[in-house]
Parts: sequence; C-alpha cells; structure tokens
Amino acid sequence: MKTLVLVEHEGGQLKDATLAAVTAASKLGDVSLIVAGSGVGGVAEQAAKIAGVTRVEVADDASLEHGLAENVAPLIAERMADYDAFLAPATTTGKNVAPRVAALLDVMQISDILSVEAQDTFTRPIYAGNAIATVKSADAKKVITVRGTAFEKAALEGGSAEVAQVGGSGDKGLSSFVGQEVAHSERPELTSANIIVSGGRALGSSEQFHALIDPLADKLGAAVGASRAAVDAGYAPNDYQVGQTGKIVAPEVYIAVGISGAIQHLAGMKDSKTIVAINKDEDAPIFQVADIGLVGDLFKIVPELTEKL
Ligand code: FAD
Repeated sequence: MKTLVLVEHEGGQLKDATLAAVTAASKLGDVSLIVAGSGVGGVAEQAAKIAGVTRVEVADDASLEHGLAENVAPLIAERMADYDAFLAPATTTGKNVAPRVAALLDVMQISDILSVEAQDTFTRPIYAGNAIATVKSADAKKVITVRGTAFEKAALEGGSAEVAQVGGSGDKGLSSFVGQEVAHSERPELTSANIIVSGGRALGSSEQFHALIDPLADKLGAAVGASRAAVDAGYAPNDYQVGQTGKIVAPEVYIAVGISGAIQHLAGMKDSKTIVAINKDEDAPIFQVADIGLVGDLFKIVPELTEKL
C-alpha cells in the first residue's frame, strides 16, 4: 500500500505532529510525505531525514504560502492518483485539510485513529473516548486523520528520502489570507510537552490564572493548559484548551489545578502517564483518574508548591 502523509510545518520548521502520522502510515505500507507551502526547501530537507520515509513531494507555490486548506486539498487530491491512503495528523491543520481531500475523492474520512488493525481496519474513539470503535473501510482510497498521542513519533533522523518537486494546483480563489495572531511563548508546545500544568474555572480571573499557573509551569519547564470553562471565562487563551473540543495531550505529568474533571476535559488528558489533581472538593471526578491527589485550596497549595520547587 502506498501512503501519502501531510507534513505540518510553521516558520520553516517541521512540526512534531507529523511524526506520529508517519508511524501510523508505516503500518500501512510505503511512506511518502507531501510538503506544501512557499519557500519550504528547508522543511523538505528535514522531512527527507525522517526515518522510514521513501519519498518527499514538495509543492512550492505562492498560492500555498499560508497553507489555506482550500488550495492544499485539491493539490493532495490530485497527487492521490499515485497513492492508496492519505494521512494527516488530527490537528487543526489536518482536520481542515483531510475532510476536503475526502470530499474531492468522494470517500469517507476515517477520523482520529488510535491503531491500525489491518490495511482497511482501524480503531477510533467515540463518545468522547468512552468507547473505542473498530471501523472497516471499503473505499479504494483511504483518507485518515491520526491521533498524535496514540502512536510513537518516528525518528527525526536516519532517513534519506528522495525529494521530488510537484506542481501546485494554483489558487482556487475560494479563500484569501487576511492575517493571523500567533501567541508566542517560551514554554513548550502543549501537544508535545512532557509536563503540563492546567488551570480551571476555580482560578477566578485571568490575573490569578497567570499569577498562579505560570510560575509553577516555569519552575517545571511545563506547558500551560486550561479547561474550557477557564477559556470561556477569558482566563486563558483559546489555544490552551485541553479536552474533547480542545487539544488531546498525553504528557508524562499532567497537573490539573481547580479542574473538576468533566468527561469532556478527561477526553483530552486521561492518557497522561501521571495525573496530579489539586481540588478542594474531595469528591471531584478528577480524583477518579488522578494518580496523586491534593485536597485543599489551590490559592494556598499552588504558591507553596511553586516555592518548594
Ligand atoms: P468546574 O467544573 O466549575 O470545576 C471547578 C473545580 O474547581 C471544582 O471541582 C471545584 O471543586 C474546584 N475548586 C473551586 N475552588 C477551588 C479552590 N479554591 N481550590 C481548589 N479547587 C477549587 N471542557 C474542557 O475542559 N475541555 C473541552 O474540550 C470541553 N469540551 C466540551 C464539549 C462539549 C460538547 C460540552 C457540552 C462541554 C465541553 N467542556 C469541555 C466543558 C465541560 O463539560 C466542563 O464544563 C468544564 O470542563 C469545566 O471546567 P472546570 O473543571 O474548570 O470548571
């Protein structure tokens, strides 16, 4: 089986999310990558070194500069003439591109896979991760998004893939790039961090969220996350949200501060290796998944913990 994997990149750097999709693709067969963008020679070089990759296709075109899905998807749909399966990470970018590719190819998408059981059979979470469905696809061409936390990351070094230029399919004129606001942070990225400190509604305000959560995260070299309630209340930016409708994470250590442990939050973090919960309510559902629980007032515990570290 020949597979084509979407390379996610930003600012000339290949993003980690690509690596889990490469591992998933390698379970299906031969792995090729596609790098779409403008001035992406450096990304293609990085992609060619990923272990297990045989070919890197590079579409370098002004119409692909901002990665608009309306221009990237037709390009991939055309390239799929040579491939049996297209895989993308189940990230914001992948979830923007893959459904369009599936629609253009007139096949169903197999979303957020957790494992490859056979070339046509996959597992994926349903009901916010409370049940795992085994799905079988009879489509001749498969379009798949891959849950990054479910597969090991392919090694960044060790490969020497052939690099080939492919033509872009041009600007489809369906959308245009207006601008973007990117939150810059010295902290690790949420989806690839080893440690995450997340804050919930209990923090009470944006000021208190940052005054308590940020210093603890900085002491631990951790990324900062948040519950949806904290995001909706404006205590933390949108891209901090962990959960069913936020990011799916599985760090070594996840510290949930003033988070109740609603099922939709658990859906995004319950695969973390060690879960630490700080909550004043000993019956909070978060304690059912926590390995270490601290019952008490976070406004007392968190500063003490930060100081002792
Ligand atoms: P709360 O549930 O209000 O919990 C606050 C906790 O803080 C309580 O347990 C309380 O005991 C504790 N507390 C209060 N004061 C203190 C103190 N001083 N010290 C210590 N502890 C204290 N939620 C997500 O997080 N991510 C998602 O992706 C997501 N997606 C959703 C999708 C859908 C379709 C729906 C319907 C909901 C979704 N939600 C999501 C919302 C989810 O159901 C919860 O409402 C949300 O997770 C609650 O956030 P919280 O735990 O911060 O707040």
